[in-house]
Amino acid sequence: MDVELNRDAKRIVSDWLADLNAALEARAPDRVGALFRPDADWRDIVALTRTIETVSDRAEVARRLVDTAAASGASGFAIDPERYPPRDVERAGEPCVEAILTFQTAIGTGAGIVRLKRSDCRAGAAQAWTLLTSLESLRGHEEETIIEKAEVPAFERDFHGPNWLDRRREASRYADRDPAVLIVGGGHAGITAAARLKALGVEALVVDRMARIGDNWRKRYHG
Ligand SMILES: Cc1cc2nc3c(=O)[nH]c(=O)nc-3n(C[C@H](O)[C@H](O)[C@H](O)COP(=O)(O)OP(=O)(O)OC[C@H]3O[C@@H](n4cnc5c(N)ncnc54)[C@H](O)[C@@H]3O)c2cc1C
Repeated sequence: MDVELNRDAKRIVSDWLADLNAALEARAPDRVGALFRPDADWRDIVALTRTIETVSDRAEVARRLVDTAAASGASGFAIDPERYPPRDVERAGEPCVEAILTFQTAIGTGAGIVRLKRSDCRAGAAQAWTLLTSLESLRGHEEETIIEKAEVPAFERDFHGPNWLDRRREASRYADRDPAVLIVGGGHAGITAAARLKALGVEALVVDRMARIGDNWRKRYHG
């Protein structure tokens, strides 16, 4: 039974994605809209909109998806073969078909999740309830894997040379070049973005109006 349900989930999602790709390529909001429930929500994290945006309502989802897919080059929405396959799940008390997606944009690879209510999955008329799209990686800045890092020769300690802090200070001076990214504000969001960019090999500088990391909290509470 589970195998049959999974096969059915895969077919439903594959058909829905084929229609989505064709409708986006044709830049046809009415065709995109027909693939969503009237109360659908779409959230994008930087992949198509370059910001964090939640769009509600079928007509608005269709309009924004068509516009931003054209601007960002988002295409090739497919079931991610390296992630958990499409399956039947229950979300917010609703039986759903859920699938993890992959897609391309002009600057990188995206990941996504689509959920379709089981009750909306009649033959040839499946409509999505929610869609999430997010930018996963930047082309030309592929993430170093732990295996690749292990191949880097071990750090040789030189007690007379610069230490870790000296190197950090020198790197953050940006004396001979500019960072690719300037992050204004070193709170949770700023530091997380800097760490992620470092993992992708993109140079970023965090600046904050406060002197030390954590001062925004240190100065709020006596603790
Ligand atoms: C009273 C209170 C209690 C909270 N309690 C909790 C809790 O218990 N647990 C929890 O998980 N979350 C808590 N939160 C929420 C959590 O603190 C925030 O969600 C989180 O700090 C947001 O991170 P952020 O990086 O977006 O913004 P912030 O942490 O506010 O970081 C923004 C940074 O930008 C800097 N900045 C702002 N403007 C400029 C500028 N013009 N130039 C340069 N730098 C600038 C600021 O100095 C700051 O360092 C609380 C929030 C508040 C207000």
